[in-house]
Amino acid sequence: MNNSLFEMALKQLDNVVEILQLDPNIHRILSHPERELTVAVPVKMDNGNIEVFTGHRVQYSSLRGPCKGGIRYHPDVNIDEIKALAAWMTWKCAVVNIPYGGAKGGIKCDPSIMSMDEIQRMTRRYTIMIMPILGSRKDIPAPDVNTNAETMGWIMDTFSMYKGCTMLDIVTGKPVELGGSLGRLEATGRGVMLIVLETLKKLGLEPSNITVAVQGYGNVGSVAAALLSEAGCKVVGVSDVSGGLYNSNGLDLISINKYVSTSKNHLLEGYKGDAESISKEELLLLSVDVLVPAALENQITKGNASKLKAKIVVEGSNGPTTPEGDKILRDNGVTLVPDILANAGGVIVSYFEWVQDIQAFFWDIEEVNKNLKRILIKSFEEVWSVSDAQKVDLRTGAYILAVDKVAKAFKLRGIFP
Ligand code: NAD
Repeated sequence: MNNSLFEMALKQLDNVVEILQLDPNIHRILSHPERELTVAVPVKMDNGNIEVFTGHRVQYSSLRGPCKGGIRYHPDVNIDEIKALAAWMTWKCAVVNIPYGGAKGGIKCDPSIMSMDEIQRMTRRYTIMIMPILGSRKDIPAPDVNTNAETMGWIMDTFSMYKGCTMLDIVTGKPVELGGSLGRLEATGRGVMLIVLETLKKLGLEPSNITVAVQGYGNVGSVAAALLSEAGCKVVGVSDVSGGLYNSNGLDLISINKYVSTSKNHLLEGYKGDAESISKEELLLLSVDVLVPAALENQITKGNASKLKAKIVVEGSNGPTTPEGDKILRDNGVTLVPDILANAGGVIVSYFEWVQDIQAFFWDIEEVNKNLKRILIKSFEEVWSVSDAQKVDLRTGAYILAVDKVAKAFKLRGIFP
């Protein structure tokens, strides 16, 4: 298994250098994050002790606009992972052509054993520590694993208190009552659903004949599952960190959602409805048409890729497939829609939120969803036709488009000084 995610991100970039005949100077520039910040985050815990967490914020590129990317709270957060995620944000914003560069942030912590007050104090201190590099025209955070609208509200409030005025446009994914956008909460999962449906169309398949398994039942996975089921697909398997559920006739997602909303830590574990318990590993290997990984990175590897039965993989999470896993899937004729396109719905609606905050003029949900669909399907078509024309897989096609756009931005701007 490849242990360095950033090496994996660089490999994916290297993969298109020859096809694009990329100038080696530009390749060198695009292989380095612009800025990396690591901070100590001291937090007074409920028991009176002070814990010091490590936080990061990486700005990979601001060539096409302000840096943009989520913040995650997880025990495995490290600078290598955040660099990779920031690089992927750069390509993602480019492939869907929104005027942002890429960034990512995170704190190494285990929020499942922290109180809400501790998480809030940690968020506020982290915000202050990275504030010198944040800003509506500099770097705009958003939610990611184990962070949500409430977390973004605390970031907005902390930033605003410090500046002495309310600044809605410094973070996206906020509660709607605090300048958030309608549709942002569901945007990534909705985007995954749209991409699955477009892929089925290209392959001449009908949603009503399709079975789906979703790995990860958080923001992205649960919304994607619900919307795919609404679109007529049969969602037969879902999993989260606590395990998986399977029903060959289709899962009762409404009852599962009701259970998860009240269960401890909002997990699937202990669900007693009409489903068989399976392991997290089994979920990936189910005999389904479509697999949506929507948990964490490094899930489809050379260890399990050859055992996957799904013929379509749509990456809801970032970096779920290693380059070795990718090659095995390609050799086995699997159609894989890459993360930088498949989960771009979130950053697209984050972009809408930023535009609405700057204009102080808010859209209705129809406007949000209509524009999300327009941008995502146009990008999907572009990626599909480049891949077709160049006879490469969809990931390579997406990278060709994305890296070319960022490289052109560099050429047009030139180097300073
Ligand atoms: P989340 O914290 O809401 O959900 C993550 C889910 O994954 C949880 O259900 C967790 O239990 C599950 N999980 C963790 N390890 C697992 C494992 N080994 N097997 C099965 N499930 C496991 O996070 P999210 O916001 O839904 O993000 C999920 C992925 O999507 C991440 O890769 C994130 O970077 C990416 N993403 C998120 C957004 C967004 O808008 N939230 C946008 C683009 C990409």
